[in-house]
Amino acid sequence: MSQQLKEEVWKKIDAYKNNIIRFTCDLIKIPSENPPGDMTEIAEFIRNHLEKYGLHCKQYEPEKGKINLICSIGKNRNESNLVFNGHMDVVPVGEREKWDFPPFSGEVKNGYILGRGASDMKGGLAGIISVMELLAELEVELNGTLTLTLVPDEETGGKFGTGWLMMRGIIKPDACIVAEPTGLTFIDIGQRGALWIKITVRGFPTHGSLSPYKGENAILTACKVMNTLLRLIEVEVKAPDDIIDIVEKSKLMVEALIEEKGIGRILSSPTVNVGTIRGGNKINVVPDKCEMEVDIRLPIGFSVKEAEEKLEELLKDFKDDVSINVIAGIEPNYTSPTTRLVSLIKRNIKEILGINPDVFVQWASSDARYFRLKGIPTIHYGPAEVKGIHGYNERVRVEDVVTAAKVYAGVAIDFLA
Ligand SMILES: [Zn+2]
Repeated sequence: MSQQLKEEVWKKIDAYKNNIIRFTCDLIKIPSENPPGDMTEIAEFIRNHLEKYGLHCKQYEPEKGKINLICSIGKNRNESNLVFNGHMDVVPVGEREKWDFPPFSGEVKNGYILGRGASDMKGGLAGIISVMELLAELEVELNGTLTLTLVPDEETGGKFGTGWLMMRGIIKPDACIVAEPTGLTFIDIGQRGALWIKITVRGFPTHGSLSPYKGENAILTACKVMNTLLRLIEVEVKAPDDIIDIVEKSKLMVEALIEEKGIGRILSSPTVNVGTIRGGNKINVVPDKCEMEVDIRLPIGFSVKEAEEKLEELLKDFKDDVSINVIAGIEPNYTSPTTRLVSLIKRNIKEILGINPDVFVQWASSDARYFRLKGIPTIHYGPAEVKGIHGYNERVRVEDVVTAAKVYAGVAIDFLA
């Protein structure tokens, strides 16, 4: 029964193909760069689009312009709630002269849709929205609820988007597909965590003409602290048993993608970036204070607490001069590859594309963590040309946008059948 329904919906998607492509182009034409992150125009456009199919959105705006749209179809019969999630914001285009085409043209050329957000993630966004519209139009009876959540703020941390919706319990998913770019043959089930800290180093001031014999130079101590911090990357982390093979395979994928031999280790050891440093007031004064902000990423299997303990151990010789403040701590997170959601998406990809997709974990982070850290099975799956994401000349293959939409529809029907 559900197979027959899927075939019917897939046919409908093929017939509706040009509308999905045009819709993707229209979304790209609305610049929704973040920063500044004002979603007013794109949210209004999407809301009107959905209303043409009788789908009414609830709108939440926790900060001016940070608009969240939510709409649902189906019945709450067995309380099964599948959520489609996508962010409407895109990263800024950067220097326009470095693009080979206008970044907001939304043009179709040689089988590709061009422009900022084509891959991350207006192609995926158009897919999940179109599937909702088609299922509503066909009056498909679902044994549960399919909820669309369109959010702002993902590119700047998500606290006014998915984070805000989850914290207030506004959505209660049983499983979630985030239409983030992965490419059609990959399913992303996990990501690293992060520990962002501010380190303050204290010294003792004196006249610069007496240095280094008198006084204690906080900048020089900070240099030693930095070098010690880097030893965090020597920590070897063992991934949990159920994803150990996936992590190993993902390491090879990272190396191939970034074209840097050995870099796969970022999935099994922490990374450290000293992002800012500020110290000293005047050239002829020995500085008594130096502050730095450090971004530490945590592989799956290494908790925030374990990272904090390791830091303390590494910096114990500096403890009289150094204080550490945590800016943010995010646990690494993943969805087990044996969950129903993962099996269903694998099955649908196989049915549509005739291939067995690769399951992987990613090095960056996203809104998926807000779901996973509450125990909700969550995956990323979306059309993409991965190398253009956040860079210049971003684009996506037309066919991939349409195929991804078929996969979203297939999973929704199977999940709620
Ligand atoms: Zn994204």
